[in-house]
Amino acid sequence: MPPSLEIAVRVGGAALVFAAMALWEWRAPRRALAIGRSPRWPGNLGILAIDIVAVRLLVPTAAVGVALLASDRGWGLLNLIGVSSWAAILIGAVVLDLVIYIQHVVFHHVPMLWRLHRMHHADLDIDVTTGVRFHPLEILLSLAIKMAAVAVLGVPAVAVLIFEVLLNATSMFNHSNVALPPWIEPIVRWIVVTPQMHQIHHSIERAETDSNFGFNLPWWDRLFGTYRAKPAAGVQNVVIGLPIFRDITELAIVRLLTQPFRNDGSPLV
Ligand SMILES: [Zn+2]
Ligand SMILES: [Zn+2]
Repeated sequence: MPPSLEIAVRVGGAALVFAAMALWEWRAPRRALAIGRSPRWPGNLGILAIDIVAVRLLVPTAAVGVALLASDRGWGLLNLIGVSSWAAILIGAVVLDLVIYIQHVVFHHVPMLWRLHRMHHADLDIDVTTGVRFHPLEILLSLAIKMAAVAVLGVPAVAVLIFEVLLNATSMFNHSNVALPPWIEPIVRWIVVTPQMHQIHHSIERAETDSNFGFNLPWWDRLFGTYRAKPAAGVQNVVIGLPIFRDITELAIVRLLTQPFRNDGSPLV
């Protein structure tokens, strides 16, 4: 695939999903936002801009580049056992999703990694922009993990691209302040992580924060016992965010960038 087409697929796909979800949550919000858009969107979208620049500058070829290199040199499990290309794409994308799930659980339980990831959780509301609010160091670290997984597994480049475009899209979808119709919600929950499922992951209650880790496929949470059906306080009343960083000044971009390094008494290791 020519690089210009790859960029068009990535940017076009992300812009389309962002616009669709922003429109949906504006016309039919699941609930009223506590803080609203204007204090939050500049910081959240500013972080997105920094993340894009950081990845493009530091790791320009990224995971697709590793996949091309791996297939060229015959590296990785799928290249070694020689499955059909369709099977390799399917297995590659599903296993990458499992890797991201495990990574997410680890980022919650290792104090130093939690310091990076907690910036995502410190948003005082959850909407489409929360889905792109990740600390640049977390983005770079997860890219390194993904590149290692791609090399070890021998995931085809097209599977990496599909997975990354899908992960971006589902992250914006499941952070959106929208609700699926009640009759369809339980069905969709078996196929993809829904907004109401991921909302629980952003609850201020730590037991609820440590549940529903999936981003794409909802099966891992069910399989490993981290699935939670609803928040104790109810969908309308669950408090979003963390017990720390509740001041509105924490939504500014400089504060977001410094949150991992703040000496707030929580353990480092
Ligand atoms: Zn999390
Ligand atoms: Zn989230």
